[in-house]
Amino acid sequence: MIDHAIDSPSDPRARLFAVCVFCGSRLGHDPDWSAMGHETGQAIAQRQWRLVYGAGRWGLMGAVAKAALDEGAHVTGIIPDYLTKIEPVLPGLDRLEIVQTMIERKVRMMELSDAFLVLPGGIGTLEELFEVWTGLQTHAHEKPVVLANLKGYYDPLLNFINKATHEGFLTPSQKSRLLVTSSIHEALQGLEPFAFGITGAAER
Ligand code: AMP
Repeated sequence: MIDHAIDSPSDPRARLFAVCVFCGSRLGHDPDWSAMGHETGQAIAQRQWRLVYGAGRWGLMGAVAKAALDEGAHVTGIIPDYLTKIEPVLPGLDRLEIVQTMIERKVRMMELSDAFLVLPGGIGTLEELFEVWTGLQTHAHEKPVVLANLKGYYDPLLNFINKATHEGFLTPSQKSRLLVTSSIHEALQGLEPFAFGITGAAER
């Protein structure tokens, strides 16, 4: 159940191509991460796309969202009520959905988004990555999932994924559904063909 939504359904920006960004609720030690988060938010706004994310104020999540808002993007945050005490909500979001559970949050993120972009993060980010990637495997959705392997952050995970494929637990075709890039620019460029034709389309 959605307890709170700020924007008006008639806001034309609510129909733009929506990228859901999953990333850390912490900033990480390397100052490059927050710079890359900022670059991601800016680049989404400059393409006139929307941002959907976990609504948090802090960490890489906050850096992406603040930059997107500052650059004029429509930003939707979705968060379970109980988590707002641990991860305070970023003020100024265009749309804020307060849900009851993590599961509801993920369902709404999948419904509202046209694509998923994963930046560096911790176990929450990994959980979200696997949720949307396995969603492709089970045909729960057919939306692109991009892993931005910035500065080789996800190299150990990609090694494991190669091992799983080598051992026959992951098919090469499922493996190839995860689009891996080494820069934010490449990641967003890879999403451009999916954005074509979305503007002005689906009611959400
Ligand atoms: P982290 O990568 O651990 O910093 O977390 C990034 C985001 O993932 C935060 O907004 C967390 O609340 C969220 N998260 C943590 N656990 C889960 C989960 N089980 N399902 C969905 N999101 C989660």
